[in-house]
Amino acid sequence: MSPKSALKAKSEPVPPETPSRPLALLQWYDRHRRRLPWRAPPGEASDPYRVWLSEIMLQQTTVKAVGPYFEKFVSRWPDVTALGRASQEDVLRMWAGLGYYSRARNLHACAVAVTREHGGTFPDTEVRLRALPGVGPYTAAAIAAIAFDRRTMPVDGNIERVVSRLFAVEEELPQAKPLIQELAATLLADSRAGDSAQALMDLGASICTPKKPACSLCPLNEGCTARALGTQDTFPRKAAKKSGALRRGAAFVVTRGDELLVRTRPEKGLLGGMTEVPGSDWLAGQDDAKAKRQAPELKGLSRWQRKVGVVTHVFTHFPLELVVYTARVEARTRAPASMRWVPIATLADEALPNVMRKVIAHGLDPSSPSC
Ligand code: SF4
Repeated sequence: MSPKSALKAKSEPVPPETPSRPLALLQWYDRHRRRLPWRAPPGEASDPYRVWLSEIMLQQTTVKAVGPYFEKFVSRWPDVTALGRASQEDVLRMWAGLGYYSRARNLHACAVAVTREHGGTFPDTEVRLRALPGVGPYTAAAIAAIAFDRRTMPVDGNIERVVSRLFAVEEELPQAKPLIQELAATLLADSRAGDSAQALMDLGASICTPKKPACSLCPLNEGCTARALGTQDTFPRKAAKKSGALRRGAAFVVTRGDELLVRTRPEKGLLGGMTEVPGSDWLAGQDDAKAKRQAPELKGLSRWQRKVGVVTHVFTHFPLELVVYTARVEARTRAPASMRWVPIATLADEALPNVMRKVIAHGLDPSSPSC
């Protein structure tokens, strides 16, 4: 090398090496990670109980909605053994309002299994975690990665979106899941697997959002195919959703002084084990007169008032419309078999699903007219 070129080489700034995608993600996470009630502070080990509880609660529910429920649960049941000793009824009651109640029943069954079969300690591998009630492939991978730093990538909706944009995955969901899983695994760093997963989750939640992703702030923007094509908003590709047919039914709001007539739904099936006011079947094309004939029979009750309007609710597989009927009965009227009177003032202690909260609010609202 001539002295001149040696001098030039010495004085020219050397461009910094672009970090690999996994490294760029971790560097971004270290600066921008979300503070979440279940997340351990940087450098501290995660508590498997908190990770598991949050992952179950977050299934089909937002971080914002889960926060207060998570706090309530951990202050009442600070560890899995305490939750395993609770009654299922108490767990359902605390869960009321979060929806998808089979998750609450599985949550309790899982706490019982960890307490009785694993001595109160969560298994630390994906395979053994999957054997627990209510723990599917995603949840097992999330606990294994976040709580035990196993080198696995749980793929949730946020990660699906980031990965499908990054690699412009043309295949539609849900068929594209195995491919997305494979591509997501390429974003795992050699160590800190849990942080790699949480970094991608956070990126999807705060930067690579469903609409108008903030690509200029994204640590992966240089190699993002969808960004280069300007097609970010079109990913992930999804098959058109089939929504179920509208179902209709009747709900009966009966009061006895300051008490309300309720019953408990069967253990198995939709809203299993939850509290409800008596009602008809929920059927597509249900005839209102037929639904009304399923009203509970109470001594001295001959006339129902029909509330104007209907209560609507959307379940995952079908939308529902309920016609609400109200009636008042005399003090000391007995509840029909399998039903009971509960004070209206203590309804908050009942495991009432959202649809029933709407029905009761409509039925008891003095300003909503009857026809
Ligand atoms: S560059 Fe934009 S579209 Fe691509 S991963 Fe980042 S935020 Fe998402």
